[in-house]
Amino acid sequence: MVHSKVVIIGSGPAAHTAAIYLSRAELKPVMYEGMLAGGTAAGGQLTTTTDIENFPGFPKGIGGGELMDDMRKQSERFGTEIITETISRVDLSQRPFKLWKEWSDGENDEPAHTADAVIIATGANARRLDLPGESQYWQNGISACAVCDGAVPIFRNKPLYVIGGGDSAAEEAMFLTKYGSHVVVLVRKDKLRASKAMAKRLLANPKVTVRFNTVATQVLGEEGPRGLMTHLKLKNVVSGEEETVDANGLFYAVGHDPATALFKGQVELDSEQYIVTQPGTSYTSVPGVFAAGDVQDKRYRQAITSAGSGCIAALEAEKFLAEHEDSEETPAAATEAGQSKIEPAAAEQNGQAAKEKPTDSAAPEYRQNPLL
Ligand SMILES: Cc1cc2nc3c(=O)[nH]c(=O)nc-3n(C[C@H](O)[C@H](O)[C@H](O)COP(=O)(O)OP(=O)(O)OC[C@H]3O[C@@H](n4cnc5c(N)ncnc54)[C@H](O)[C@@H]3O)c2cc1C
Repeated sequence: MVHSKVVIIGSGPAAHTAAIYLSRAELKPVMYEGMLAGGTAAGGQLTTTTDIENFPGFPKGIGGGELMDDMRKQSERFGTEIITETISRVDLSQRPFKLWKEWSDGENDEPAHTADAVIIATGANARRLDLPGESQYWQNGISACAVCDGAVPIFRNKPLYVIGGGDSAAEEAMFLTKYGSHVVVLVRKDKLRASKAMAKRLLANPKVTVRFNTVATQVLGEEGPRGLMTHLKLKNVVSGEEETVDANGLFYAVGHDPATALFKGQVELDSEQYIVTQPGTSYTSVPGVFAAGDVQDKRYRQAITSAGSGCIAALEAEKFLAEHEDSEETPAAATEAGQSKIEPAAAEQNGQAAKEKPTDSAAPEYRQNPLL
C-alpha cells in the first residue's frame, strides 16, 4: 500500500490543473487518470471532441485530444505521478483516506493507496439517447453542448434542433438562435419543465419553435466517416404521426450524470448526484476531500471553469495539508525546536540543527504560497 500527501481522482482539465499546481508546490501528487472510467478515455470529455475554440491561449483553436495530451505532459513535467487505473472504492470516513483500484477492491483487498487529502475531479457525462444514427453523427452534427459547439460553421444559418424541456434546453435553444436559421425544441411531454420565466422567454423568441409531444427517432445524413447529419426523423407521441425534417444540428439537453457513484454516502451529494461544495470553494462535506470540475458544477460545465476550479482545489488542499501538519506537531516539541515548522527529515537533509530558527527559504515551497 502506498501513501501520498494528496491523490487526485480524474484526468480532465480540473484534475490536470490541480496536478500542475500541487506538483509545482512539491507535494508529489498522484493522479489516478482512469482506465476508460465511465466509458471515457483518460483525459476526460475533451478527448471525445475535435476543435476547442474557447480555451484561452489558442487563437486558432486546438484539438480536444491534443489539449489534454499537453495538460498531461505539463502535469508530468513537474513531477505528478500518473497511474492509468480507475478508482472504484474509497473510504473517506477517516484520515488517511483509503482508495481501492478497479479489480482489486474486494472486502479483503488492501487499499491501493492512502492519502492525507483527496481531490475528486471525475467529471460528468452528458446523457445520450442511443438514437439510430447517433454514434455516426456524434460531433458531426450532434452535440451535447451548444455553448461549446454552436458557433462552428456547420450550424451557421441552418435549421437546428434541441432535445429537452428544462432550463438547460431553453438556454441552449436561445443561445443557438445566434447561429442557426431557426431552432426547434423537441419536448416529449405537453409542457416545458423550464422555470416560468425561462419558458416565457423561449416561447416568445421568434427564432424558436417548441414542438410538444414530439421525439426524435432517427438521425440521417451523409455517408462516410466524416459525413454530416442532414435530416431528423420525428414522431408525435400522441398521434403516432412520423415525418422527416431538414436538420443540420441536434443538441441534447437531457441532463448529465456526474461520476459520483463511488462517493455516495461518503460526501454530500445533491438531488442530482453532484458533489456539494461550499460556494466559491472546493470544500466538500469532508475536511481534506476537495472537488473540482464538472463533478460539482452543473451550471457552467466548461473546460476553463473546470481548470479554474482545479486550481482552487489545489490551493485549498495545500492549505489543508500545511495546517494538518501544524496540528500534528506537539506544542512542546514545536517550542523546543524554536517554533520550527521544518520536518525533522527535511532539516537533516538541509544540514540544519532542529533548533535553528526557521527561515522562509527553509520551508517547503507550498508553505511559502502567499495565498495560504
Ligand atoms: C463533446 C463535448 C465537447 C465539448 N466541447 C467543449 C468546448 O469546446 N469548450 C469547453 O470549454 N468545454 C467543452 N466541453 C465541456 C468540457 O469537456 C468539460 O466541461 C470538461 O472536460 C470537464 O472537465 P473535468 O475536469 O471536470 O472532467 P472530465 O473532462 O469530465 O474528465 C473526468 C475524467 O476523469 C476520469 N475518471 C472518472 N472517474 C474516475 C475514477 N473513478 N477513477 C479514475 N479516473 C476517473 C475519466 O477519464 C473522466 O472522463 C465539451 C464536452 C463534450 C462532451
